[in-house]
Amino acid sequence: MKGRNFKDIQDTVSHWMHGQGLDRSRMHATLVQSMAVYRHLPGKYQQVICDFVLRFYRHKTVFAHPAVKHRDTLLAITASNAALVGAAQQTNCFASVQWIYFCAKDLPVEGDAQNTTTVRLRAKTCLKESRVITPGSNLVVHEFAHILDALLGISGSTAALRDGFDQYMGNLASADDVIADCFTPLEDTPHGIEFTEDADLHTEVEFFAVATEAFFTHPYRLKESYPALYRDFVSIYGLDMADYLG
Ligand SMILES: [Zn+2]
Repeated sequence: MKGRNFKDIQDTVSHWMHGQGLDRSRMHATLVQSMAVYRHLPGKYQQVICDFVLRFYRHKTVFAHPAVKHRDTLLAITASNAALVGAAQQTNCFASVQWIYFCAKDLPVEGDAQNTTTVRLRAKTCLKESRVITPGSNLVVHEFAHILDALLGISGSTAALRDGFDQYMGNLASADDVIADCFTPLEDTPHGIEFTEDADLHTEVEFFAVATEAFFTHPYRLKESYPALYRDFVSIYGLDMADYLG
């Protein structure tokens, strides 16, 4: 991953943070423009998110593929979508995550999270899904849900999560669930990952991440289909998303 094309963009990060004298009100203006979910949140949560973003990149190193554009916006919306996931828990602005990679087409998957330290994201997807709410899909939310889970051990830990997983597995055959199939077919790239036929791609860990995406992108439908799980998510994330997005 640290191929010769990959450059750390710490100068961009520090120029963005300090050169522009970024503060809460500038951050608010950026997020109003570039993050659809943000516009729906009550003011007190918007403030929490802005503060989280302003602290997010301390002690992190960010790398970007040369083809990655709109880097300032990308920095803002990655941190703010991570804030949706981690601001209500003791993640200390996801301090455990030390390396973030913004990728172009150099990943065989849209993104991934490794342990609690590394997140890799396809930049274009992050920007697109932040600008417009895409029901069922939010890559940044998905990967940081994995980090939160790795930190706190949430997946499969409550009755609603376990029952939700059973319900979800039961619905998979009909492909008619509010929660996306957590197995996304991989692109046919030379670096494509090959899974053995019996690899278990439908796990409680993946379920937690895709259900979290549903919570932030079409919460009302999640609340209808998985009311107990929805209530768990309200307490995990400290946000009543169905109330804000409808
Ligand atoms: Zn995943």
